[in-house]
Amino acid sequence: MPAKKLEGKILESIERIANIGHWRYDLVNDSLYWSEEVYRIHGLNFDDYTPNVDVAIDAYLPEDRDYVEKALQEAIEKREPFEFEKRIRRPDGEIRYVSSRGECEIDFDGSVISIFGTFQDLTELRMREELYELAAISSGAALWDWDIKSDRLNWAGNSAEILGYTNKKDLPRTTARFFSELVHPDDHEYLKNAFTRHFKTREPFSIDIRLSRTNKNYKWFSSRAQAHWDMDNQAIRMCGSLYDIDLLKQTQGKLERSNNDLSQFATIAAHDLKAPLRAISGFLEILQNRYKDKLDEKANEYINFSVNGAAQMGELIDDLLEYARLKSDEVEFTQTELNPLIQNVIDTIIFSQSDPDIAIEVADMPPILADANKVRRVFHNLIENALKYKSEHPPKITIKAEDQEDIWQFSVQDNGIGIDPSKQDDVFLMFKRLHTKDKYSGTGIGLAICKRIVELHGGDIWVESEPNKGSIFYFSIPKRV
Ligand code: ADP
Repeated sequence: MPAKKLEGKILESIERIANIGHWRYDLVNDSLYWSEEVYRIHGLNFDDYTPNVDVAIDAYLPEDRDYVEKALQEAIEKREPFEFEKRIRRPDGEIRYVSSRGECEIDFDGSVISIFGTFQDLTELRMREELYELAAISSGAALWDWDIKSDRLNWAGNSAEILGYTNKKDLPRTTARFFSELVHPDDHEYLKNAFTRHFKTREPFSIDIRLSRTNKNYKWFSSRAQAHWDMDNQAIRMCGSLYDIDLLKQTQGKLERSNNDLSQFATIAAHDLKAPLRAISGFLEILQNRYKDKLDEKANEYINFSVNGAAQMGELIDDLLEYARLKSDEVEFTQTELNPLIQNVIDTIIFSQSDPDIAIEVADMPPILADANKVRRVFHNLIENALKYKSEHPPKITIKAEDQEDIWQFSVQDNGIGIDPSKQDDVFLMFKRLHTKDKYSGTGIGLAICKRIVELHGGDIWVESEPNKGSIFYFSIPKRV
């Protein structure tokens, strides 16, 4: 192939790959030349169509035509380069975003003989930008894109409105301005540390900070983001969102306060109830021991009822106190070996059981990061229930652990009376009992305590069960705090 022809072929391929064509308008002969890529962008066939300036201008959307015509005229008059981005409509109706750049070719006598330039299809890019902008607006979050090396911040969607700026142009474009204009002074260090940690560990960036455009009436925002790293492990870019969670925080605060009040009330009430109850139990004991022979049978029976009632009340108060004391700031995470812990629970429970045919199988358990005393309570309650709600068969209990990526999933399976499927969620509620006291003793707080403990560890608890076949209680504990 001759060198000239080869050059032409290479140029054609490059134009196709880059979506850029070239054109030349010969003013002397009033003729227009388009390269193949310009045809392709217009959705036209090279062999079927000869372009001219009027038709080329008509390809633009009606509202863009005047602008295009004026830009060309001005370029010719002033002999200056031009550049614009407008939309054309293809014969099949499809709209394309195009960028046209050109400059004049001047004759030796100073007259413009042609105007030539490039024509680029920007549709994919603009569509992606539009989609990004629409997604940003509909997300209701302020979206930011930070070029770390040049410390340049870009914003999308309704960021200005969300952050309290009247104009998009006023949004902070550097992190220094972002910190000084928006971030609560007490959160500066926290935010800087969060960036440093994310760049170093690459763990998800997720924090709550206070922002205010006016340096008063700060509002809570939640930010989630993700950096990009170069080959040298340097973070070069970071994109993220800022979502207004002020209402959520206020509600959370109210809820926390009311929970604290409630738990304080329960603690005080339970504590204050214990002293008179101790007195009642003490006097009942005296009646039982000293006056047994002096009272008739009915009176003794009533005293026995009262003693049992007082014992049940004592149990209820203890459980209530235990529940009220379960608070997140009192969880002490330590590396906990589960096999000896569970064995100890089993020994304690078996000691008070009269049934000789109990079979309990414990699989190999992993060490976990947890509050040992609290996890002990969970296993204790579940194993105790598995024995309490036994069927006519000798009790058989199996305790297992399953490794599930970020969590350990534990299960305590029994062959007891089982639970009706419609009641399986209810059993974790406070005071919820599916049987009467005379059939099975209890307070209905045991599983609520288990649920609270598991949730304080960031896990979940649930049951799968079939009446008369048995139950499997599952609970999960995250591997990391
Ligand atoms: P309690 O045992 O004191 O009543 P829990 O909170 O421990 O309270 O349990 C709530 C209810 O769930 C129990 O009353 C019982 O009806 C049901 N339950 C708990 N564990 C089991 C089990 N392993 N098998 C069948 N039912 C169970």
